[in-house]
Amino acid sequence: MLLRMSTLFLRTLRDDPADAEVPSHRLLVRGGYIRRVAPGIYSWLPLGIAVLANIEKVVREEMASIGSQEVHFPALIPREIFQASGRWADYGDSLFRLADRKGNDYLLGPTHEELFTLLVKGEYSSYKDYPLSLYQIQTKYRDEARPRAGVLRGREFIMKDSYSFDLTDEGLQQSYQAHRDAYERIFSRLGFDYRIVFAVSGAMGGSASEEFLAPTPSGEDTFVQCTNCDYAANTEAVEIVGPPAAEDSAGSSQPASVVLDTPDTPTIATLVDCLNGLDWAAYGQDGRQFAAADTLKNVVLKTRQPGADKWELLVVGVPGDREVDLKRLAGQLEPVEVVQADEKDLAAEPGLVKGYIGPQLLAELKVRYLVDPLVVEGSAWVTGANEPGKHAAFVVRGRDFDPDGEIGAVEIRDGDRCARCGSPLQIARGIELGHVFQLGRKFAEAFGLTALGPDGKPVTITMGSYGVGITRAVAALAEQTYDEAGLVWPRAVAPADVQVVPTGKDVAAVAEAERIAAELVSLGVRVLLDDRKASPGVKFKDAELLGVPTILVVGRGLDDGVVELRDRKSGERRDVPVGDAVSAAHAEVTGG
Ligand code: ATP
Ligand code: MG
Repeated sequence: MLLRMSTLFLRTLRDDPADAEVPSHRLLVRGGYIRRVAPGIYSWLPLGIAVLANIEKVVREEMASIGSQEVHFPALIPREIFQASGRWADYGDSLFRLADRKGNDYLLGPTHEELFTLLVKGEYSSYKDYPLSLYQIQTKYRDEARPRAGVLRGREFIMKDSYSFDLTDEGLQQSYQAHRDAYERIFSRLGFDYRIVFAVSGAMGGSASEEFLAPTPSGEDTFVQCTNCDYAANTEAVEIVGPPAAEDSAGSSQPASVVLDTPDTPTIATLVDCLNGLDWAAYGQDGRQFAAADTLKNVVLKTRQPGADKWELLVVGVPGDREVDLKRLAGQLEPVEVVQADEKDLAAEPGLVKGYIGPQLLAELKVRYLVDPLVVEGSAWVTGANEPGKHAAFVVRGRDFDPDGEIGAVEIRDGDRCARCGSPLQIARGIELGHVFQLGRKFAEAFGLTALGPDGKPVTITMGSYGVGITRAVAALAEQTYDEAGLVWPRAVAPADVQVVPTGKDVAAVAEAERIAAELVSLGVRVLLDDRKASPGVKFKDAELLGVPTILVVGRGLDDGVVELRDRKSGERRDVPVGDAVSAAHAEVTGG
């Protein structure tokens, strides 16, 4: 393949686009890989298409290697199909909905579980047909609340999604493992630095669920890694251990709870100051000092069932030195929506006194109350007394209040302890590249996907669901590999292997560059030849911006019989005799 810069549909930009928040976005636009049409909606130009095609090639090869077969579904889907699975409602505002000329409702597919299930149901009927694995590479539509960072979070994006269909749970385990292995090969081959972390299974339910994350500061996901064992999890799904459950889990050794006058203490800091000015001798705790961690903070949120209009209050209790992580909560409550309650919601429930809310009253008010597992059974707290200016001390879980349940709610911190081994956890940010999870029988049940077993009885099929963000992978790779001069593509995805750059006006240099390019192409090397009438400075700048891994400069050195070979990633430059230029560049490409 020979691409000529003189005719390539490409205009690089000197300036950063005004809306670019992250390096990959900035560089993909400047390098002429993508152009913005609307928020979260991008056009792909020839170089961008080349990178996409390389990624898709690796994905197709690895899907084939596990026996998955490619199909292709429409993006335009009739409402009834999503209604049957419940997702017309569950997907909420993220679903693009539209109507045809007759007024029939349609949607643009955000993922395709329903269509895969229906397709298989239409074709297969016997246990002998299974197991089966199908995939597609398709454009998805999601009206993301915050499209971001170019193609990293688009509203239209390309995804590889695959599904496995098995008769038994053991079969599903095997299909899941095969996919997980294929994903490891895909992300390694593409040149990613990635981690596999436990994840929540999200809107689709299911059990085992893991994400492939690319660690990078601009990632939207936060994950933890244990400093001792191999536990790693998205913070949405992480489990941490708190203090061991109180030995006295009934809290009988604690003084009876007391209501204290704590005027003007609506915040944890003011409350702690006030507590440390009180006399605790009467409770057998002379000289006791309090910290924020001794207080129980109750945060008022509200939740809404999918498809419902009405919001319901939810109070979440966490130690006072911790914040509530709404994203972590949302991941666990999905498809139920959860947001912070506002003044109006609070006003509608006069029993909730802002700044002084305690759990003692919540059962009576019929307000749902969940606590973080750090609020262990039998633990004693200072918390609101449900009256302005008053708090209660020695309020014991299991004695003075009983939450309706537990939910991992606190914002995870560096140093929180691993639920497996108790060692400190480390926090980092990453981009979700892919997701594998065991969907189970939810969709098979919704659509009646069964196979006739050997005994003539129907068996409900169990499914796995596996996704890779193809367009996101382009940006994520750029994000992990760029430097201050531009993009630095790993070889497997680069739009070309070698960029041949003749410099100077010398016709000999141009002729020599043409010859080298042609010979490389005949060896199967993908060459980008900068045959523009531009200054060396412009050509070098563009070569660095575009990120082709090997740059071959044919210029001044020719008088001495040499050309210069540059490695885009390491910056290393070396002269090679012009006669060896082709073999040297070829060796770079093949790693020989
Ligand atoms: P996220 O949590 O980032 O919104 P998701 O969990 O909703 O992603 P999945 O439904 O698991 O995503 O989709 C599979 C893959 O598709 C993801 O792992 C990601 O790589 C990609 N993907 C999802 N949403 C987007 C988007 N808006 N833009 C680009 N790629 C996306
Ligand atoms: Mg996901």
